[in-house]
Amino acid sequence: MNSANFEYAAPQQLHEAIALFSRTPGALPLAGGHSLLLDLRTRTVSAPLLVDLRRIKDLHGIHTVDSGIRVGAMTTCRELAENRLVNERYSALAEAAAANGDAQVRARSTLAGNLAYNHPAGDLQAAALVLRAVIHVVGSGGERAIPVDSFFLGPQRTDLAAGEIITHIDFPAAPGAGSAYEKFKNPANGYAICGVAARVGPEAKGGECYVAVSGALPSPGRLASVESQLAQKSLTASKIAKAAKLAETDYDYRSDLHASAEYRAHLAAVLCERAVLRAAERADLSG
Ligand SMILES: Cc1cc2nc3c(=O)[nH]c(=O)nc-3n(C[C@H](O)[C@H](O)[C@H](O)COP(=O)(O)OP(=O)(O)OC[C@H]3O[C@@H](n4cnc5c(N)ncnc54)[C@H](O)[C@@H]3O)c2cc1C
Repeated sequence: MNSANFEYAAPQQLHEAIALFSRTPGALPLAGGHSLLLDLRTRTVSAPLLVDLRRIKDLHGIHTVDSGIRVGAMTTCRELAENRLVNERYSALAEAAAANGDAQVRARSTLAGNLAYNHPAGDLQAAALVLRAVIHVVGSGGERAIPVDSFFLGPQRTDLAAGEIITHIDFPAAPGAGSAYEKFKNPANGYAICGVAARVGPEAKGGECYVAVSGALPSPGRLASVESQLAQKSLTASKIAKAAKLAETDYDYRSDLHASAEYRAHLAAVLCERAVLRAAERADLSG
């Protein structure tokens, strides 16, 4: 099937893109195109105009800001997976990006496209949740910064308003923290049957610990009961195993032709334990 007809524009400046969205209701941003072009071909989605963001230089690159990092919307999964700083300080993000599809998919698919699409079996949402990302957007109404906990509203739904573009995603510094992403792939298409991201840090002895699931819940989300169980205690392997069991019992996982809810619940506990253990190994828990 072919897509319905649409116009195409590839502006070089952000203000030109914003003007195009203001002038054309229903226009959509085009990033890597690995989800949007498929949806256009199956006519799940239609748009009078695609605004290709690739030529806008301000939307590219990974930079340090305020001790954290700022990732441009058009940064690809390959760039994230290969970046030294991301690997050292934001390992869950590097590992989630490396787990996305295959080499061809990673070369094109972008962080912003992945988050904006919010596919139930996507990988990067869980990493963004545990690394406390802040999603910066701009539209005809001005700029907004959306904390990641408010961004994902449901399967393929986000807080983005029509015509708003993600410009960059900030990942705050977390000194001494360690993070990891574990994924069980669908052997047929590579998407996550279940993926778990975890971040633990020095605070984990009595403070913060973040755990989030992609793929298995209707929409990616944090596992609050697991987080609070881990946060109350200094971390040992047996305490991590006990907390991870809550990932199996406390949540309603989805069921589809690829896996039952029971299977996904089991995977969530196993992957949760592995992700938290690896995150703890990377963290400076004495800090
Ligand atoms: C064979 C295959 C395997 C895949 N495997 C995986 C996998 O294992 N894990 C996984 O997570 N994903 C997987 N994907 C999905 C892939 O990562 C997608 O490309 C990604 O989810 C969307 O990113 P994109 O840059 O291609 O965005 P596009 O397809 O260009 O856009 C997706 C949506 O986001 C919107 N959008 C894009 N950029 C912006 C922006 N800056 N601001 C606002 N809205 C924006 C678009 O309008 C569109 O609605 C796979 C895809 C394919 C084709």
